[in-house]
Amino acid sequence: MKFGTLYSYWGNTWSCDYLETAKRVRKLGFDILEIGAGHLLEMEDEEILALRNLARDLGLTITCNIGPPKDKDVASSDASVRRAGIKFLTDIMNAMNRLDSKIIVGVQYTYWPNDFSDLDKPAIWKRGVESMKKLAVAAVENDVRICLEVVNRFETHILNTAAEANQFCDEVGSDNVGVLLDTFHMNIEEDNIAEAIRTSGSRLWHLHVGEGNRKVPGEGSLPWAEIGKSLRDIRFDGGVVMEPFYYDGGQVGKDIKVWRDISEGASPEEMDTRIADSLTFLRKNFLTED
Ligand code: MN
Repeated sequence: MKFGTLYSYWGNTWSCDYLETAKRVRKLGFDILEIGAGHLLEMEDEEILALRNLARDLGLTITCNIGPPKDKDVASSDASVRRAGIKFLTDIMNAMNRLDSKIIVGVQYTYWPNDFSDLDKPAIWKRGVESMKKLAVAAVENDVRICLEVVNRFETHILNTAAEANQFCDEVGSDNVGVLLDTFHMNIEEDNIAEAIRTSGSRLWHLHVGEGNRKVPGEGSLPWAEIGKSLRDIRFDGGVVMEPFYYDGGQVGKDIKVWRDISEGASPEEMDTRIADSLTFLRKNFLTED
């Protein structure tokens, strides 16, 4: 198991200085930095190479996270939007190849956040599966594994549970398409988080962790010891990435619906301490045999 965090922890915008953030998360003891996959399409080749080389030097793994916009929805009823979505995600995977990044997580099977203007789930699902079969070819070519993120009902109506993600993966039928579960979303949708992890089993390649209010693990009430046991039971060997959100304002505050300063005025140094403490807490709960 490797441990990481999403890049946006210290701010309320979907942007950061990746080189500085990479050094910072490594210094805090993390093995993984998760970046915004869409940023790769805005970066010059030299920037991608600089990040790749720095990550290599630091011994840091880079994973990519995406919530495609509605005009890049691979499950859209509009064929031209589906094509745009497939091109968008294929271009990202080509850039990931240059970055030497092997994992893309998120709601690649449709768009995010959903506005629920189209509620024909079976039709969206079917188109999503067909597009994902095409994306799986690009994934193989780039040695990338696509992890479909299961999210809660307020963000999509397509994949809300681990069981639904298994069904979707079965229909896609690719060795390069698997699952990402997120404790924040599971806490809303699943009867039992540990059981949901067992339901995903060997399809689970990446895990997002956060409390029910998206604070770092250990600051809330989710059953981390039990979650750790379920990960050991399925011999989980993927990335465990925190996706904490503490700040209101900005596009992050709006997209994630943070309406107050959850950090309660913490300084950047205090934020470093709390995420480092959470990393220690997670390692203890996930890696320690009973
Ligand atoms: Mn997530």
